[in-house]
Amino acid sequence: MRALVISDKVEPILYSAGITRHVGAIDLVISCGDLPHYYLEFITSMLGKPTYYVYGNHGREVEYQVGKGETWHRVTEPMGATNLHAAAVKEGDLLLAGLEGSIRYNDAPRFQYTEQAMWAEIWRLAPKLMMNRIRYGRYLDVLVAHSPPWGIHDQPDRPHQGFKSFLWFMRRFKPRYLLHGHIHLYRRNVVTESLFEATTVINVYPYRLMNLEPCVRP
Ligand SMILES: [Zn+2]
Repeated sequence: MRALVISDKVEPILYSAGITRHVGAIDLVISCGDLPHYYLEFITSMLGKPTYYVYGNHGREVEYQVGKGETWHRVTEPMGATNLHAAAVKEGDLLLAGLEGSIRYNDAPRFQYTEQAMWAEIWRLAPKLMMNRIRYGRYLDVLVAHSPPWGIHDQPDRPHQGFKSFLWFMRRFKPRYLLHGHIHLYRRNVVTESLFEATTVINVYPYRLMNLEPCVRP
């Protein structure tokens, strides 16, 4: 399936009337986080395709006026998109799952996880992956994350360290892809695609158009 995958930065070419022509035919949209709701909602409504996302460490609540009258309702999710955190969904042939946030580096209330807290999120997700395995013969095809794994595309400063638990996750559940953002790229010669066990780890910053295929069974 052809996917538009976005992360971390509002791209003028996508946030414009030219998006449809630029992107071409796609089947789904995936966000790896740290994007404003208006951007995700713009893309969702322009392309009219299923949209999945996880929050990055800068995920925050945004208020909209929805419905009639003067009342402001707090809306904490981008409209028309599905939060993938600790969830597993099937979109066409693809099995998707998500893990939001980054490593904890300050006392912000949400979207930062200690390594131990991320393990707890993985345990929350694991039963859903087990169900996939029973129903479809594989745990998942795509892990949508904000943070990279430990030692792969991550950086030495605390906020940009990856999760060691993601390495275990890839060994155990063998997704075909791990898509992440969080690591902003300023030079062209930085590695953005790495193979770890059966998983291709891809930094999608700021966006990628890619064909995502289900895992090939042995
Ligand atoms: Zn981030």
